Amino acid sequence: MSQIKIEEVKSTFERVGLHSHIKGLGIRDSKVQFSADGFVGQVEAREAAYYVVKMIRAGKFGGKGVLIVGPPGTGKTALAIGIARELGPDTPFVQISAAEVYSMEVKKTEFLTRALRSAIGVRIREWRRVYEGVVKGLDIQYGKHPYNPYAQIPRSATITLATKDEEKKLKVPAEIAEQLIELGVEEGDVIWIDEETGRVFVQGKGEGGEAFDIYVKRKTEVPKGPVYKEKEITRFFTLNDLDIYQARQQGLLSAMIFGFAAEEREIPSEVRKAVDEFVMKVINDGKGELVPGVLFIDDVHMLDIETWAYLSRAMESELSPILILATNRGITKIRGTDIESPHGVPLDMLDRLIIIRTKPYTPDEVREIIKIRAREEKVSLANDALEVLTKIGAEESLRYAIQLLAPAQLRAQEIGHKEISKEDIEYVKKMFLSVKESVQYVKEYENYFLR
Ligand code: ATP
Repeated sequence: MSQIKIEEVKSTFERVGLHSHIKGLGIRDSKVQFSADGFVGQVEAREAAYYVVKMIRAGKFGGKGVLIVGPPGTGKTALAIGIARELGPDTPFVQISAAEVYSMEVKKTEFLTRALRSAIGVRIREWRRVYEGVVKGLDIQYGKHPYNPYAQIPRSATITLATKDEEKKLKVPAEIAEQLIELGVEEGDVIWIDEETGRVFVQGKGEGGEAFDIYVKRKTEVPKGPVYKEKEITRFFTLNDLDIYQARQQGLLSAMIFGFAAEEREIPSEVRKAVDEFVMKVINDGKGELVPGVLFIDDVHMLDIETWAYLSRAMESELSPILILATNRGITKIRGTDIESPHGVPLDMLDRLIIIRTKPYTPDEVREIIKIRAREEKVSLANDALEVLTKIGAEESLRYAIQLLAPAQLRAQEIGHKEISKEDIEYVKKMFLSVKESVQYVKEYENYFLR
């Protein structure tokens, strides 16, 4: 099994989106700043989160987890992301909602195992013999799309690669042609071709391209010989990536169909065991290291007693990510029982959790967060528009105020405003209701609704 060959794999769990502005916990000289790394206010919670980071770094967090409690939209998810970012740039962050555990497609434990294993990274270093050269020509060959008669898909590509001493034409298969297009490879880029696998490594661009073996650095100078080089390549995978790859190799899972993984079936435990052995060997041989990430589970009051038992066991395992749980509930029943418990979390689990609370925002904090979010979404806001949004954020919810940015920008563009005006905000606010307004509406017209 240590022979496992790791090729291209795509992760099945989404990583971040709404929170792209959160780059860390906003710590400078060990102190929490009011506004830094995209994080604003919530100073007490951020300081507590920073202590969690320090405990993790000091290896003093084994078997523990974090529970973040606070009203909706007070940055619980943002705090979990902040912790992951502080732990390092390639720390995996996986976010799920407890409700997803009950999806009909796979068993609860299978879903959770995938989530847990997606939150553990492995960095692997390998020496490979590669052919390095500058792209002098790139010719993509297209063919018919299998289902869509109007579309074409890349079938292969011919690359002309040059070094100081020679020029060479290489034909690469469809998947690599797609990568070349995705990365916008052009003449002048330096690329390497892996002799053994025929795969291409591009130096120059791309973000998070590691999973595709695409590396980043742009050079214009033509490399000197020798043409062939030994290169140390660092690749990054999650345990779940490796499980899927290994299961596919053995024909246990269907292949990817246009980006959708049809993985309804359970991954057998032998596959996972083999992957664990492989990873341990890589680490023991000094060829890689584990990168434990964060599994963030929102709305944990929805987890049932069996799931808690499973999670509790998982926390003790050697290969466990950092568990961060969040809820906005007080005392509530533990799902699947008649027992009431704080936050719907069993007491033995609560005992192992470090609890951090988030508080509602002040208008100044709301204003600052909206400004950051507007910058992130490349939206210009007039001063009075910012003030209206701040009021909406403070009175209704921060999430709602942030959601109004995109439609308001569309409306501003349509009527030729250079920046979003107060009137644009008021216009879209009438179209899209806040939660408070929609509840009010339903109450008012209760008799008209089907019952
Ligand atoms: P819920 O209980 O509904 O899951 P939540 O407490 O997890 O909500 P978030 O989703 O983290 O709240 O916050 C809503 C939005 O506001 C997100 O875009 C988040 O990144 C942003 N946000 C929240 N708090 C802060 C903050 N203190 N600084 C910067 N951005 C924030």
